[in-house]
Amino acid sequence: VVPGSDTARTVATHCPYCALQCGMQLHVTHRSGHERPDVRLTPSDFPTNRGGLCAKGWSAADLLAHPERLTTPLVRTRAGDRSSALRPATWDEALDAVAAAVRATQRRYGRDAVGCFGGGGLTNEKAYLLGKFARTVLRTRSIDYNGRWCMSSAAAAATRTFGIDRGLPFPVADLALADVLLLVGANPAETMPPLMQHLEAGRERGARHVVVDPRTTATARTAHLHLQPRPGTDAALANGLLHVVARRGWVDEEYVATRTAGFETVREAVTGYWPDRVERITGIPARDLEAVGEMLGTAATAMVLTARGAEQHASGTATAQAFINLALALGLPGRPGSGYGTLTGQGNGQGGREHGQKADQLPGYRKITDLADRAHVAGVWGVDPTRLPGPGVSATEMLRALGTPGGVRTLLLLASNVSVSAPDAGRVTDRLDALDFLVVADLFLSESAARADVVLPVAMWAEEDGTVTNLEGRVLRRRRAVDPPPGVRTDLDVLMGVAERLGHGGLMTTDAAAAFDELGRASSGGVADYGGITYDRIEDEQGVFWPCTDAEHPGTPRLFGTRFAHPDGLARFYRGEYRDAAERTDAEFPYVLTTGRLMRQYQSGTQTRRVSALTGDEVGPDGSVVPHAELHPDLARLCGVGDGEAVQLRTRRGTAVFRARLTTGIRTDTVFVPFHWGGPSRANTLTDDALDPISRMPAFKACAVAVTSLAAP
Ligand code: SF4
Repeated sequence: VVPGSDTARTVATHCPYCALQCGMQLHVTHRSGHERPDVRLTPSDFPTNRGGLCAKGWSAADLLAHPERLTTPLVRTRAGDRSSALRPATWDEALDAVAAAVRATQRRYGRDAVGCFGGGGLTNEKAYLLGKFARTVLRTRSIDYNGRWCMSSAAAAATRTFGIDRGLPFPVADLALADVLLLVGANPAETMPPLMQHLEAGRERGARHVVVDPRTTATARTAHLHLQPRPGTDAALANGLLHVVARRGWVDEEYVATRTAGFETVREAVTGYWPDRVERITGIPARDLEAVGEMLGTAATAMVLTARGAEQHASGTATAQAFINLALALGLPGRPGSGYGTLTGQGNGQGGREHGQKADQLPGYRKITDLADRAHVAGVWGVDPTRLPGPGVSATEMLRALGTPGGVRTLLLLASNVSVSAPDAGRVTDRLDALDFLVVADLFLSESAARADVVLPVAMWAEEDGTVTNLEGRVLRRRRAVDPPPGVRTDLDVLMGVAERLGHGGLMTTDAAAAFDELGRASSGGVADYGGITYDRIEDEQGVFWPCTDAEHPGTPRLFGTRFAHPDGLARFYRGEYRDAAERTDAEFPYVLTTGRLMRQYQSGTQTRRVSALTGDEVGPDGSVVPHAELHPDLARLCGVGDGEAVQLRTRRGTAVFRARLTTGIRTDTVFVPFHWGGPSRANTLTDDALDPISRMPAFKACAVAVTSLAAP
């Protein structure tokens, strides 16, 4: 395409937002006299979205030429003084400052005092190279990413049970084949609307769907049965369902005997989850529990799916485990039209956790503590395995310790806005301010970027090549359709720029295809094996499902047909006991706060809050943005709150202000808020950073809250 002449072309790619990764075409027109091309988009008939897009996807191209895009590096007017203004700088000046800060910090405090924080929005190539950058250029153990807050608990439970963690072990089209679908803590009708076609196809042929959610969401309204548990009690529900299944003789005994290990302790553990006891814990009527147990126990095909509502708790791994146990006892995983899965959220939430930006993992899900795994990856990287650092701490633990003795002093933050998205975000923001040096690479001046010493403007999804892995484990191409604006570089350029200044540029590459090739070799032989996947194959085959070991391997759309990924081929049961929420309600904080997403916003809102087509009724008549808190009218009456009035929510960590939206669709003891905003309506000011003991998932989805009306007397 030649700028300056009227030319047009169409580029096939995928949406920049959620894990469904809807296929789309970008239609790029360069018009004479226009500096930037026009980019229009249309949906593709891709197997996941079949011509559908949600409002976020439709508006994705609006951000490419957004006036608030960062197009030059920024540094502080007075170096080292973050109260001074940010000013434009050259790339050399900015990268020199980053390299100098890394050197100074490591010299003074040791290698681990420099940390990297990544994101589930990074392409596979970036996630891979960020992990390699941390382990070989910085040689720090301090690296983790925001996916730790996404579905790490379900990932941990799946890894223990199946020996492999792939969100859906089957294509999304299989959702239509399940006669009974149990959907727990998921609201795809808002978070990934095109997915609903597959559910609708199932209902059209007579499938029955059960949705478990404290709110009557758009998804719950499509269900045959909606169960509304108290937030944080899903493990009791799962164990209660398994109790019903076991008591009434619906366990698939042959499957359990031949394909699993460890069921008897679980069978015994669930004997105490009588439906009336589960009703007292969850609030779900015992008769509904019996009915759902029967639906699952007598169905020819059935699926159990969890998402963030069940997983984002300090007992998230046990909860996911309890639902996996239910699916295993019913003999579902590996059977056609049946199984267990988790609906991954972030755009590259799946691939983002496979390639080594997690504190405890190397590419291909290899363990950083395993000598053979270290030797393999070090061989691909051409470094001495004994010089690779060991495991670091999880995202929340790293952030809590920023600026403290033994903690990270200089942080590189990519594709993440932790000042809005972290649990107990006020505390995390204070910790950012305690750093010696903060570097943020982003598209816009996010709340986190605004606190940085150096801000680096990076390319958007349509401006660079790469791959992502969607919620099915299907590896997809993102294609460069337009050039980045002048002054903008890619994340790979950023890593290379710092690596070169530290004398290790030879370890990095700015070529995405070369990075993918290397990633394939690093993951080869691992659990998430990309060894046989190439850009050309992705092009020819509408994506390739991992594991795909070599050029002849067809990829693996469906897992577990004959064996699980443990060496003996068996799946493992583990007890998934119910525990009370990490934080209990009391007289001062009498209600339960839960958080979630809205259809027209995405994650911390750094992108979607800037798209006018996506700003909904959160914008008041004066232009100010005050998102809604959902309350039941009975709770609102108790608190003296009227519909549409300002309301203050207070937890043990802080306060935030919302506009009340009264709805009978929510439990009377529960308040819901979306987490897409910063400022006075930052939901994560309120949330609890208590951590799951296994996955280190925080308790985003349940904490104790007080409600106060702010309406004038
Ligand atoms: Fe994009 Fe997800 Fe919406 Fe599809 S459902 S258009 S991938 S945000």
